Amino acid sequence: MALRQIRQYGDEILQKKAKPVVTFDSTLHGLLEDMWDTLREHDGLGLAAPQVGLLRRVVIVEMEEATYEIVNPEVLETSGSEVRIEACLSVPNKQGDVERPAYIKIKALDRYGNPFIIESDEEMLVTALCHEIDHLDGILFLDKALKIQDRPLDEEITERRNKKDGRQASDKRKSNVRGRK
Ligand SMILES: [Zn+2]
Repeated sequence: MALRQIRQYGDEILQKKAKPVVTFDSTLHGLLEDMWDTLREHDGLGLAAPQVGLLRRVVIVEMEEATYEIVNPEVLETSGSEVRIEACLSVPNKQGDVERPAYIKIKALDRYGNPFIIESDEEMLVTALCHEIDHLDGILFLDKALKIQDRPLDEEITERRNKKDGRQASDKRKSNVRGRK
């Protein structure tokens, strides 16, 4: 397991445009594995390569029912709009109301370079996809938020989530030790 450091707001790499992946080799697969480890360590929903310091068009998203590895995504279609609350592993202690489409259709490549389509009108997934793809263009939710607020401490969120999931006490202890930086 290899954790990568999550770049925080103020780091200029978060404002740069990422480049398409051209080689689907073990370096890419290693990056993806590290991104999964890093995402899960921080209890996040999604992570984009620039957030771990690599300007490559690579995104991962983890929903309860499915996980997505997305390389070189291209938005083919969106429709509707909804305002939802977003937060970001690179922007600690803030959350914001962001307007996003209600439906999205994306073309992307998997870790081997095979094309696939994701299509969804599921609120959490559409939001996560939009948020992560924005990272590839150097855009943070702060840039789009209609309203920005302080966010409850990460510890409180983890605790609430653990209560909801009925997770093991040991996980909870680990989360609290992690804390905020
Ligand atoms: Zn983010």
